[in-house]
Amino acid sequence: MDKAELLRLDREHVWHPCTQQKDHELLPPIPIVRGAGVYLEDIDGNRYIDGVSSWWVNLFGHNHPRLNRALTDQAGRIAHHIFAGFTHPPAVELASRLSRLAPGELPRVFFADNGSAAVEVALKMSFQYWQQTGHPGKTKFVSLSEAYHGETLGALSVGGCELYRQVYRPILLDGFQVAGPDCFRCPYGQSRQSCAAECFGAMEQLVTERHQEIAAVIVEPLIQGAAGMRIYPPRYLQKLRQLCTTFSVHYIADEIAVGFGRTGRMFANEHAGVAPDLLCLSKGITGGYLPLAVTLTTETIYQAFYDDYSTGKAFLHSHSYTGNPLACAVAVEVLNIFEEEAVLAALGPKMRLLESQAERFEALPHVGEFRRCGMVAAVELVQDKNGKIPFPWQERRGLQVYRQALRRGALLRPLGNVIYFMPPLSISEEELQTLLDIAFEAIAAATA
Ligand SMILES: *Cc1c(COP(=O)(O)O)cnc(C)c1O
Repeated sequence: MDKAELLRLDREHVWHPCTQQKDHELLPPIPIVRGAGVYLEDIDGNRYIDGVSSWWVNLFGHNHPRLNRALTDQAGRIAHHIFAGFTHPPAVELASRLSRLAPGELPRVFFADNGSAAVEVALKMSFQYWQQTGHPGKTKFVSLSEAYHGETLGALSVGGCELYRQVYRPILLDGFQVAGPDCFRCPYGQSRQSCAAECFGAMEQLVTERHQEIAAVIVEPLIQGAAGMRIYPPRYLQKLRQLCTTFSVHYIADEIAVGFGRTGRMFANEHAGVAPDLLCLSKGITGGYLPLAVTLTTETIYQAFYDDYSTGKAFLHSHSYTGNPLACAVAVEVLNIFEEEAVLAALGPKMRLLESQAERFEALPHVGEFRRCGMVAAVELVQDKNGKIPFPWQERRGLQVYRQALRRGALLRPLGNVIYFMPPLSISEEELQTLLDIAFEAIAAATA
């Protein structure tokens, strides 16, 4: 199929995610035919550095020999089978190894096939736990403004990005939302270094007053991703853990985006030295190869479901592709790579390179802040630096940066006025420097 035919059929039949399809009149989708390392290659032979890890999933680059082999080896045995009443070696190995790696004691692992589903599982487990342990009034969830936990209705109910949520409001669950940390425009006049998470006050007050109605608090630890890579200090998580323990409320950590090394540690909760009651993982779990997700939980929660069948206490949630063997086999190989290739230990120079860019980017007239956490960095564009006044969203400055960067050979897919870097962990220092240089030129051009 040639390019013209491909794009014609795409236009006629394919409805793309998170897209106003009419935008394709101006900017048709780019057909990708292969990948190699951090590069994507299109049908015309153009190459793009995958600066966003293909929506935050890729860890070790595209077309990775070890992951390819793990996938084809498993395909040569069996691709998929029912996971109720049956089990298989990759799922068992993955569950036991994730339990050992996870913060705290989370020995029980429930499988699903995407991040939103892992969040639904966590919410339902928490709710059902309280129903079955004599607290039927604990039915609500607390989440942060600007939070992102996925697009299905339950996950959207605990989301705070109005862009994705507003139209569905009438059909979402009723819950509590608390103002999340906003360190760039901190209302307390603090900096990330000096703060004591003063903004936690709102959460403290709500949970103290309403804990009898609250099943769980869900947050994205350290980085509110879709909000524009809003980075906040570990102190907030320490206070949250303490508060949840005091008032018997579950702490659900959504590490779907930040897990698997993105923050420089395996899991973001490690920076705070705390452990959640439920931990949601997906995205990087298969290195960006296949859809897979897990929800890990404690023995205490598990035991509230463990009883004779007739008690009706089982967790009856399921998905057709639960525990898919191909995905699990690749995920096991991802853990092998982390271990055998000392991936986390090799991140130091790359994190320092990112950090060293702050001054350079912040010297640009329309950059309000350059912030970083681990291997994630973000540039916040502003119309006016002193007042931290954002560009009007209608101007779509981010989209202009996107187009400028594509022309120069990098895929950067901004979140509104925030340009961010979340490259595969395997990116070389040289490739990272190229990505940063392209972004710098693209931002300068798009805000001139
Ligand atoms: C991407 C994401 C999700 C949803 O995962 P999907 O696989 O896209 O459904 C949930 N939470 C966070 C923090 C995410 O970044």
